[in-house]
Amino acid sequence: MDLLIVGSGFFGLTIAERAAASGRKVTVIDRRPHIGGNAYSEDDATTGIEVHKYGAHLFHTSNPSVWEYVNRFTTFTNYVHRVYTNHKGVVFPLPINLGTINQFFRAAYTPDEARALVHEQAGEFDAKEAANLEEKGIALIGRPLYEAFIRDYTAKQWQTDPKDLPAEVISRLPVRYNYDNRYFNDTWEGLPTDGYTAWLERMADHPNIEVQLDTDFFDESQPLNKKATVGQVQIVYTGPVDRYFDYAEGALSWRTLDFEREVLDVGDFQGTSVMNYADADVPYTRIHEFKHFHPERADRYPGDKTVIMREFSRFASRDDEPYYPVNTPEDRAGLLAYRELAKGEKDVLFGGRLGTYQYLDMHMAIGSALSMWNNQLA
Ligand code: FAD
Ligand code: UDP
Repeated sequence: MDLLIVGSGFFGLTIAERAAASGRKVTVIDRRPHIGGNAYSEDDATTGIEVHKYGAHLFHTSNPSVWEYVNRFTTFTNYVHRVYTNHKGVVFPLPINLGTINQFFRAAYTPDEARALVHEQAGEFDAKEAANLEEKGIALIGRPLYEAFIRDYTAKQWQTDPKDLPAEVISRLPVRYNYDNRYFNDTWEGLPTDGYTAWLERMADHPNIEVQLDTDFFDESQPLNKKATVGQVQIVYTGPVDRYFDYAEGALSWRTLDFEREVLDVGDFQGTSVMNYADADVPYTRIHEFKHFHPERADRYPGDKTVIMREFSRFASRDDEPYYPVNTPEDRAGLLAYRELAKGEKDVLFGGRLGTYQYLDMHMAIGSALSMWNNQLA
């Protein structure tokens, strides 16, 4: 073995694939019973509908190298992601666009009229100087729209008052003064035609790659553990950076999600793949309905059954799956300290979402693994 990779998510598999293609012998270990990290999906046992086990995953990118690379392993459907939100029992389109604004104010504003109205309602804060998410949200869309669609959803999702959250969180969400309700702005978008797991398995399918599942790097009863391997072989580690150093600089904080999956005896539960719930009195943030991700599979999927998943958000304890970095000022200080420790770790490179404590979309995880390969390993 020339290279040990801890974690078989998109970051680890991209490194493994590149290394194997260049003739290196690679072993990938993962503590889960399957490959693919959070992008893993499986067919629901009763309906055959592909379910994204760790929450809905939509592939999108504007990076030509990443797009060329991923197309070596899978084709993509022409799925375009659109999200709707339920506020006080009425459904509105997201991201906030002219359709949302006109429906909310029961009006027929032109783009300029809508802009002028929002400008008037947003006057209390300046977007460039906004000190927190609430100020930024109001500066972008005005107080009435902010209170309807952002305030309570954000408080539910982050379990934190939006006044205590950084303004950048809301920058992910565009505001449009036309009727375009595509969720993403990227050049390329789609879902893997044969599903995520087929794509992930193709990346690992090489005689130079050995995958060992149910294998925890910190379990000293298995041979490829930290104590036995560090300094002996080159390692790419994609698990949580604080865990690697035994929380020496304190635990970094994460949000986790709880998913409630249900098979229903109806052909179509909500008519779309993702419905957000904007109000505080609904405990979940959104409901996913998986059959809508693949309309092209309609003849394969049952016409009288559907699979839905409700998503609940909360702070993670050490035993929970870490999903979203919370990034408080203490976390940022802790991360700097861990980066210093990581620099001193002989022959170990830290990558991916958990290894760098960063919210990375799939295309970003793959792009950053390709850079690590080209710049530090090739
Ligand atoms: P991961 O996929 O987390 O893989 C890390 C792997 O390391 C895991 O398999 C884990 O079991 C393993 N591991 C950890 N510790 C150990 C250990 N001690 N020993 C052995 N193995 C270990 N991205 C998008 O582009 N679009 C989306 O719509 C999207 N939706 C998302 C929704 C949710 C709820 C979440 C959480 C993420 C979403 N993402 C989305 C992001 C996407 O999941 C990540 O970009 C991708 O998973 C990053 O890959 P990774 O390899 O860095 O990490
Ligand atoms: N957001 C919101 N209402 C919505 C959808 C999103 O207030 O209906 C806010 C929320 O603060 C969220 C941010 O916009 O954290 C980014 O949304 P996105 O859907 O990109 O978040 P994801 O679920 O992918 O992390």
